[in-house]
Amino acid sequence: MSIGIPAPSSRPPASAQSEEETAALFKELGEPAFRATQLREFLFRKGIASYEQVTNLSKTLRKRLAEHMPLYELAQVAEQAGDDARKWLWQARDGARVESVQIHVPGRLTSCLSSQVGCAMGCVFCATGLSGFGRDLEAHEILEQYLQMWGRSGEHSSHVVFMGMGEPLHNYDEVLKAIRVLNAPPPKGCGIGARRITISTVGIVPGILRLADEKLQLELAVSLHAPDEETRARLIPVSRRYPIREVMPAVREFSRKARRIVTFEYVLLAGVNDSEAQARDLGGLLQDLPCKANLIPFNPVSETPYERPPLERQERFKALLEQAGVPTTIRYSKGRGVAAACGQLRRDAPGAA
Ligand code: SAH
Ligand code: SF4
Repeated sequence: MSIGIPAPSSRPPASAQSEEETAALFKELGEPAFRATQLREFLFRKGIASYEQVTNLSKTLRKRLAEHMPLYELAQVAEQAGDDARKWLWQARDGARVESVQIHVPGRLTSCLSSQVGCAMGCVFCATGLSGFGRDLEAHEILEQYLQMWGRSGEHSSHVVFMGMGEPLHNYDEVLKAIRVLNAPPPKGCGIGARRITISTVGIVPGILRLADEKLQLELAVSLHAPDEETRARLIPVSRRYPIREVMPAVREFSRKARRIVTFEYVLLAGVNDSEAQARDLGGLLQDLPCKANLIPFNPVSETPYERPPLERQERFKALLEQAGVPTTIRYSKGRGVAAACGQLRRDAPGAA
């Protein structure tokens, strides 16, 4: 099956270029600089899948541009639509594959982006973690997921979450570069407010501390998954390097410096981390921090032995946290119908060529 991989070109795609670089190409083509700005305004403000849609440039110019500079670099391999989510599988020029998802909740469309090909953290309940680590994504490959989903679905996401494949703080520089473009006003970027961009991390302490010093008011979500070191280390191998006793002060510092309420994510695994004692311990751990908790009932991953706790146990866990003063929600993950829910993304997704 042909998946329409763009012909090799020495020039980076439009999505990877700065305003100045695009202007230089237009100059080479004998076109005025304002046309470069027009292209970028389309790219970042309209949601386009191809040059054909850049209707404020002439047909001839669009054709010449297509010959000189690819618009994007990721090729679509598969697209699956569910009731509340649409998932894409992309292939990069080196053959690496990642997935991304557009998620509908009433009144809001969110783009869930991948930051790496696979993930090196190896969390035992996560399909991405089980697939191992391929490589870091480059900033424009991250940005492109957002732009191409918009162009292909015709629907604009108001929010972005880094909850796809990979650990965003393990690819700090490229993720931040992509975020700066998502955040910048057009024609430099997409104009998404920092408060509408969430980084979800497994708890990479140096990354959290660096993020605290960025002058950005990003949302931070920290995947905790256990209130004690021993259980957490069993679920998240990297927590031996970054234990809870180091993660919590770093989160506190982020919250203080960025003046943000932090979200703690907690995958509920039956019989592993869903007991009343664990709920109480978690409540104790989070009590004096400006935060909320987001419980994620386990989404099935076939290679794992885990199960989702029954509904009443989920509710009990939530009630105990709330008693401890921690505002808590249960995330009934969107996209399970197309295996696009938290922890279900893969690079060898079924349906792929
Ligand atoms: N690497 C980052 C972001 C990607 S995962 C992180 O771990 O935070 C986004 C969320 O989905 C994380 O909280 C992760 O722990 C959770 N998750 C992973 N596998 C899951 C599964 N099978 N069911 C439910 N949530 C899962
Ligand atoms: Fe990586 Fe997050 Fe999956 Fe852990 S849960 S393996 S950090 S993507």
